[in-house]
Amino acid sequence: MLKKTKIVATVSDLRCSVDFIRELHESGMDVVRINSAHVTTESATQVVKNVREVSDRIAILIDTKGPELRITGMAGAWINGIPVELNEIVRLKGTGKGTPSSKDVIYVTDADLYDEVFIGAVVLIDDGEIELEVIDKKSNMLICRANNSGTIKGKKSVNIPNVKTNLPSLTGKDVEFIHWAVDMNLDFIAHSFVRKKEDVLKVQRILDERDSHIKIISKIENQEGVDNIDEILDVTYGVMVARGDLGVELPAEEIPIAQRSLVNKCIASKKPVIIATQMLHSMILSPRPTRAEVSDIANAIYQRVDAIMLSGETASGNYPVEAVQTMARIARKIESDTRPMADIEMVRINNEITAQLSRSAVRASINLDVKAILFDSLTGRTGRYLAAFRSRKPVYAVCYHKYVVRELALSYGIEAIYQKPFETHESFLGKTLQKLQKQKALTKNDLVVVVGGNFGAAQGASFLEIGTADNLQRKTEHAGYKYNEP
Ligand code: PEP
Repeated sequence: MLKKTKIVATVSDLRCSVDFIRELHESGMDVVRINSAHVTTESATQVVKNVREVSDRIAILIDTKGPELRITGMAGAWINGIPVELNEIVRLKGTGKGTPSSKDVIYVTDADLYDEVFIGAVVLIDDGEIELEVIDKKSNMLICRANNSGTIKGKKSVNIPNVKTNLPSLTGKDVEFIHWAVDMNLDFIAHSFVRKKEDVLKVQRILDERDSHIKIISKIENQEGVDNIDEILDVTYGVMVARGDLGVELPAEEIPIAQRSLVNKCIASKKPVIIATQMLHSMILSPRPTRAEVSDIANAIYQRVDAIMLSGETASGNYPVEAVQTMARIARKIESDTRPMADIEMVRINNEITAQLSRSAVRASINLDVKAILFDSLTGRTGRYLAAFRSRKPVYAVCYHKYVVRELALSYGIEAIYQKPFETHESFLGKTLQKLQKQKALTKNDLVVVVGGNFGAAQGASFLEIGTADNLQRKTEHAGYKYNEP
């Protein structure tokens, strides 16, 4: 049985051999994620080359860092970190210059920190490992009290829930990576800390200037992003529920509520949605997942997400291949216990005909003994619409651009293949039916639903046809398609 939920796996430049990537792909990985926080464009180029050597169907996503706060590097004497005790006073200061931190003053990468943060705010360092509370503001510094003991290390993340910073949504490094992504013909940019529509549009403008087809995935990782999801969905291609930062920006018990609401809105808007972070965290060190992790993945699949993501598990963990295999196994099992979503309410649809036909195709596949749904696509739009109705039957997409095949690697249940454009609908249908029968995905008596277009590729889908593979083949033969063609 084909797996329908897509798997995104983070790959590090330190472990990216062709054999390793092939193993991940054969285990069920559909999309490779490169985290720009940990690579240079040179080292990331090697990851891309190796992925392409394995398959041109694997999509590649680069994760920008956006307006995230970090502690600066430590000055020499504090290179191993600054130990702090419960209730100890810690002084924080903003810097735009990367001034090194020391026990006297810890610098945070935001020049306007003093003005933005209020007394009473909570500052979480290193994904919440250390919690500080701002008790006073003096001499351009935030005077904080440590709410737990630990060690503050250089360059670690800083989250300050409920504080809006004025940091630019795109850093110089982000812009460099976006241009690199265009040069490397990558597929997705996952932009960090998207807070509003304008954050997405800034990336889109660069892509448009470069005439790039790359699609933007908005990482939702704070309350502002959650609050503004409707305007973000108006302009983004997809969404990542980035639970690492979200889990520090919001109280932990609010994450499941935010996740559920974001997923529902994405599906209703027909936009791919990825659930990220700590899905199999224990498998960084252990060959077996915890029961809670299995349930977390199952819950995401029951919520009907398009994709689930691995971070440290595949980037640096001890059991990367096992982690992908585990996800794929859970996905197959849980998908068999789900139902299509042919009745969901449609929002944000700019092509009603394609959406209506997609819904009808999935309905037909429920009510009739259909073996597969087929369509051809120039832009992938029919694929995304069909994916949103979460068919249980395989959906085969014939794409006329290789990058569209890769884009659909993030859409639920779509099996995409590349073909040079066909002259007629009949030749697409004839050739595809022939191919699927050869692969034993279909027999001649199987019922097939075809979503097709009669008015040229740019006009999208215009009709639905249902018949056995044999009858459809006979029709195409009648229209002049020759079956003995290779
Ligand atoms: C996250 O926060 O969940 C995430 C995926 O982003 P990052 O890798 O920047 O932590």
